[in-house]
Amino acid sequence: MRPIQMVDTKTQYHKIKTEVDAAVLAVIESSQFIGGKEVSSFAENLAKYNGSKHVIPCANGTDALQIAMMALGIEPGDEVITPSFTYIATVEVAALLRIKPVFVEVDKKTFCIDPVAIEKAITPKTKAIVPVHLYGHAANMEAIMQIAAKHNLFVIEDNAQAIGNDYRFSDGTIKKTGAIGHIGCTSFYPSKNLGAYGDGGAIFTNDDALAEKLKMIASHGQSKRYYHDVVGCNSRLDAIQAAILNIKLTHLDEYIAARIKAADYYDKAFAGNKKIEIPYRDKNNTHVFHQYTLILHDVNRDALHAFLAEKGVPSMIYYPVPAHRQKMFDAFGGSSYKLDITDWLTERVISLPIHTELDEAQQAFIVSQVLEFINR
Ligand SMILES: *Cc1c(COP(=O)(O)O)cnc(C)c1O
Repeated sequence: MRPIQMVDTKTQYHKIKTEVDAAVLAVIESSQFIGGKEVSSFAENLAKYNGSKHVIPCANGTDALQIAMMALGIEPGDEVITPSFTYIATVEVAALLRIKPVFVEVDKKTFCIDPVAIEKAITPKTKAIVPVHLYGHAANMEAIMQIAAKHNLFVIEDNAQAIGNDYRFSDGTIKKTGAIGHIGCTSFYPSKNLGAYGDGGAIFTNDDALAEKLKMIASHGQSKRYYHDVVGCNSRLDAIQAAILNIKLTHLDEYIAARIKAADYYDKAFAGNKKIEIPYRDKNNTHVFHQYTLILHDVNRDALHAFLAEKGVPSMIYYPVPAHRQKMFDAFGGSSYKLDITDWLTERVISLPIHTELDEAQQAFIVSQVLEFINR
């Protein structure tokens, strides 16, 4: 059996090596390192894939979120509503811009922001809702878009973990996550479902004026070269990364299918075990399994984590400390929040290896080790 890894980007690379190596060398030969045709064609290809009118590539997913908040004119003192049960980037950028992150609960089953909690947290200062499609499962976008329309708020989707997810509205309309809110943000961090070989990110929007603003802010606030109209930042996707992503994008659907197949295997193996709650999949979206995350009941989670490590099975806790309990947010009143579901989940979740290269022998071993610990 091959050693088990949380993600296996190396084996995945070897399957497309010839193509990728040629594309990377072609960029170097062209010496068009910044911008150029690989970056613009990737933006076009991704826009087509995602059903978004505009894609603005940028340096990473965190920048994408920051640029989104800047482009929407959200100002110091304004509030954005977001889950605490998430990766820190989502809320860090708000704090950086002196925008107040307002943390709300997630749904216990989907791990994503709870629309009922959103509505309760709205104040006259609220400007935007930032749902996170955590682990690859979509937030309840239908309810979120309705709340946003009713209260005249922007929606910025953090789609870093869910690129490729098809979300179905009750009228049958299907849209990709990231193409539903006013702005969508994603990351090409190497372990993401569409991962580069370094950092990268992108911003999605269907709004022409907003697209212009986003582009400008990502490029030093320039309307044309050396004319700076607004304060922006410097956030670019490398041409080499764009060339790699252009190739990997053509494989994204097959990568997603491989992740879903691995999830199906785990689901079957753990079905019926009272101590293991397998990931919920709402019929309104295709969970793309950036992570395969279990909720454990009456199990010493940290002891399981250590046991698995000893047996050569990596596992991860995403995330060991929720955002509202991070020291970073003390100044924003983080510790005054009472988010019981978030705390409850934080103590019970564990993510097992899931990636495109996982084989059945590896999965059988992972399952046997989990069950050995759970059932003893
Ligand atoms: C990865 C990730 C980000 C940030 O992406 P980077 O490219 O690492 O900056 C933001 N939000 C979520 C939910 C993520 O998983």
